[in-house]
Amino acid sequence: TPLSHIRNFSIVAHIDHGKSTLADRLIQETNTVSLREMKEQMLDSMDIERERGITIKAQTVRINYTADNGEDYVLNLIDTPGHVDFAYEVSRSMRAVEGSLLVVDSTQGVEAQTLANVYQAIDADHEIVPVLNKIDLPATDCDRVAEQIEDVIGIDASGAIRVSAKTGVGIHETLEAIVHHLPAPKGDRDAPLKAMLVDSWYDSYLGVIVLVRIMDGVLKKGDRVRMMQNGSVHHVDRIGVFRPAMTTVDELGPGEIGFLTASIKQVRDTRVGDTITHEKNGCAKALPGFKPAQPVVFCGLFPVDSAEFEDLRDAIEKLALNDASFSFEMETSAALGFGFRCGFLGLLHLEVVRDRIEREYDIDLITTAPSVVYHVYMRDGEMTELHNPADMPDLTHVDHLEEPRIKATILVPDDYLGDVLKLCQDRRGIQLDLTYAGSRAMVVYDLPLNEVVFDFYDRLKSVTKGYASFDYQLTEYRQDNLVKMSILVNDEPVDALSMMVHRDRAEARGRAMVEKLKDLIPRHMFKIPIQAAIGGKVIARETLSAMRKDVTAKCYGGDATRKKKLLEKQKKGKKRMRQFGKVDIPQEAFISALKMD
Ligand code: GDP
Ligand code: MG
Repeated sequence: TPLSHIRNFSIVAHIDHGKSTLADRLIQETNTVSLREMKEQMLDSMDIERERGITIKAQTVRINYTADNGEDYVLNLIDTPGHVDFAYEVSRSMRAVEGSLLVVDSTQGVEAQTLANVYQAIDADHEIVPVLNKIDLPATDCDRVAEQIEDVIGIDASGAIRVSAKTGVGIHETLEAIVHHLPAPKGDRDAPLKAMLVDSWYDSYLGVIVLVRIMDGVLKKGDRVRMMQNGSVHHVDRIGVFRPAMTTVDELGPGEIGFLTASIKQVRDTRVGDTITHEKNGCAKALPGFKPAQPVVFCGLFPVDSAEFEDLRDAIEKLALNDASFSFEMETSAALGFGFRCGFLGLLHLEVVRDRIEREYDIDLITTAPSVVYHVYMRDGEMTELHNPADMPDLTHVDHLEEPRIKATILVPDDYLGDVLKLCQDRRGIQLDLTYAGSRAMVVYDLPLNEVVFDFYDRLKSVTKGYASFDYQLTEYRQDNLVKMSILVNDEPVDALSMMVHRDRAEARGRAMVEKLKDLIPRHMFKIPIQAAIGGKVIARETLSAMRKDVTAKCYGGDATRKKKLLEKQKKGKKRMRQFGKVDIPQEAFISALKMD
């Protein structure tokens, strides 16, 4: 296909605004797959993604389209990941295409995630075609939403296409707009090969499958290619495109998007954003903007049943095969035994991995409180990264600490604005901006990531009854007065409960923690002091009073089976407890105690 007849695009949208449904319709309208073959929402393949309505791996499809002018076009759609944790992956996918469809639900309007993604598209110099979806619904208000797009995003929405991805209205117009409003890709067929690695995933039959966008040159089966980041050389054994089923082709030329396989064993060897060229006569300069994946949120994953440690190791290693941005190392905790300290791109990424271990591998997990990565500057000038509050070095050697800050954008109906401002303020937020678009406010806050990783989403949802939308990006590391707070149960520190807090909030947080733990830890036969401390100094204290714990007492000695049942029940209950010193701490305590109200 000549470059002039190729169009590469992505679809940007807030969750549930109809991205997948629209993609399905475009595929269906062009008979790329027959209706019978088409599974609903075929672009979202993983179960969890489908359930949560998010896309984690970019999916791609090549569509052949004969336009009204009689010419045949090749349209390549890259479905970008739908969540902030994957912002870097989104930015790479955006660099692989020239245009975007901006899909906005015409009954809802612009949301925080729409903004985040559309700014990525603007950064990548995309031509943007606004699409107002769900016009079949009675609540549709295209004029209002078009005006909002112009006000908030600042792009012309007068020619926005009015679509119902459900009924098919406007789909033909959308295809015509892709052909006529989006630019053709550029590239030089005779130049050395320069291809961008857009995404990669592991397939148990083919090994790692690498999604590429060819910028210059031609890629053929049998070529020897070099990954410019790590210098590794691979023999390409297969190239092809997605229709959406994998279909092999003879070559991929400039402007084309497709895949290659090269007997690569793990996705770690294929970094998103890397440049692929030929081993001989390669291109001189790699594409700009490569960034290695950096985990920003860490937590400990421990098996509830310590006998499942090896199963957990197996599960984690398998998941890591397919996820280059997920890191792990073994961790031992006095409270929780053997487990793993794992790093994630963000909270959602953490949840996805945890859910998969519990569901696909059937292992019950204790997840310790998520923690961000702190920069610890020692008195000798050296900086170390702190991934686990339990590893905080002795304060006498520490000069100062820095924590990651984020820029958070929240869109919320007026009525709930007060509650949102209060929430952000309570989390050490600094207000950067407050503007209105119709009856909704857009607030921008500078917040410590640390204050967001616990339960910010949940709190935001509950104070706004689910009407707020939220998005964030990491901005910088900044110094603040941060300290490690330890929790002592029965005078012994429980490492899994230690956390980093701001000094000004330590007393309040410490008090809340010990009060909660007092409710969460069952009474024992002896008195149990529960304390929060900074260094050697106790800042909050509660005492759990003693109790005679005799569950069979009320059976009056008579009924032996009932007695046995009760004892069994108690034993089972114990399984979800962790013994610590002489004290049993239930699993829930580790998570609940770290949530703030
Ligand atoms: P995504 O999260 O952006 O991929 O959104 P989906 O494509 O999964 O759509 C979210 C929900 O909206 C689904 O229940 C769709 O069936 C529904 N939906 C999508 N487009 C339309 C439309 O044009 N009209 C109506 N009534 N519902 C739609
Ligand atoms: Mg979707």
